[in-house]
Amino acid sequence: MAKILPILNHPNPILRKMSRPLHPDEIESPEIQRLISDMEKTMLAKDGAGLAAPQIGQNLRLVVLRDQDLEKTFIMINPQITKKSWAKAVDEEGCLSVLDKNGHIIFGNVERHKNIQCVYLDTKGKKQKVAAKEILARIIQHETDHLDGVLFIDKLYGSKKN
Ligand SMILES: [Zn+2]
Repeated sequence: MAKILPILNHPNPILRKMSRPLHPDEIESPEIQRLISDMEKTMLAKDGAGLAAPQIGQNLRLVVLRDQDLEKTFIMINPQITKKSWAKAVDEEGCLSVLDKNGHIIFGNVERHKNIQCVYLDTKGKKQKVAAKEILARIIQHETDHLDGVLFIDKLYGSKKN
């Protein structure tokens, strides 16, 4: 039975590490398959749009996310964004790992590429490709940033870093 995992909160240093890719042979191991089920269950239980492995303390390039329109869950291993549109869009984001003092999720505007293409390995280690638009494109960019130790608060729109 899958279980709900505790989520690490900013400023935990694990969230800031570069995560390592999974070797194709590891993907079908019981440990990784269990981790994937647990992450899926955790994302749904917390009502998140996505969850990256560093958020539950594993510095692995693994994310689970869902497309709310299609009601489809994606499990992406070693995801890589291979195409990005010139067009960008600003919209509000939040993160299960970024909370205020009272434990509530903080929201902020982030500029992202509007459309992207992403290649990844599925739970069987098979290569997959998705062309994502709008919200799904935004979620994929947010989750893949986690794998490089980047949080959305690093990219707030209108802040001096931009
Ligand atoms: Zn996040």
